[in-house]
Amino acid sequence: MEKIKLNDEIIEQIKDFEWGNLTIKQSAIIEKLILNEELNRRYKDYGLCRECKQPKAGHYYNNYWCQSCNSKHFQQNFKNWTSGNHEVDKFIQSLQIKSNDCSEVLEWIEYDKLEKVEYLAKGGFGITYKAIWKDGYILDWNLENNQWERSKKSSKTYENYPVVLKCLHNSQDITAEFLREIESHIKIESIFVIRCYGITKDPESNNFMMVMEYAKNGSLRQHLNNSFNSMKWEEKLDILQRIANGLKDIHSQGLIHHDFHCGNILNNNNNYTYITDLGLCRPANVKSSQDEYKK
Ligand SMILES: [Zn+2]
Repeated sequence: MEKIKLNDEIIEQIKDFEWGNLTIKQSAIIEKLILNEELNRRYKDYGLCRECKQPKAGHYYNNYWCQSCNSKHFQQNFKNWTSGNHEVDKFIQSLQIKSNDCSEVLEWIEYDKLEKVEYLAKGGFGITYKAIWKDGYILDWNLENNQWERSKKSSKTYENYPVVLKCLHNSQDITAEFLREIESHIKIESIFVIRCYGITKDPESNNFMMVMEYAKNGSLRQHLNNSFNSMKWEEKLDILQRIANGLKDIHSQGLIHHDFHCGNILNNNNNYTYITDLGLCRPANVKSSQDEYKK
């Protein structure tokens, strides 16, 4: 599919504009030159890519993303990694090529990039572990160093980047269920839903595991049991608001959670509340079978 692009003549005229700080005259030039609605919106929202000079495609917080260039950077690296499973490789690759910002990126994470793996909890779905991810997640391509800029290097907050490893029962045989849960996390792309960064494989058990965002206070159930009396009303209302926003983001993708309770809501540092466990998440028009609920 041929993508719409700005032509060289237009790029030449606008490439030195200070995006985000345009003069009235420059804004008028943009309106006159970029007539395509999508390119015009992308220029105003995300600015130009330094590498290809085309408008970027999206952003996650302060990280602005060129889908076209970053998709190439991912593709050039396909030959350097494999999960050992063709289906998983294809799944990760297709998400990487499509990603419109860094929160939509899924990576194959070698197990030796994870340190201090410790047991966290056992649930109906499988087992979770806590670990330190040595690299941290991808923020953007660093043009100067010709490599990915990662969260861990760019911020002191992420010096020890904790993650959760979620291992489903019998995930040696990678199932559609496993990949569907990950796809739901990526598709919903909400700051109120826990992030899934990638997939790894425990070399001892041969189990595939999701590598996910870590929430310090654990489930909302645990958090309320520990701190209900010391919490202010504002904090409790804030939690409710974040849960409502997370559900709204899930529903706006046409999905229904199907397994929603306070064990599947996580809390980090009191102020951040996220929905997780999207294993039964399905499109609103697809009925889950009774059997699925019994698993
Ligand atoms: Zn680009």
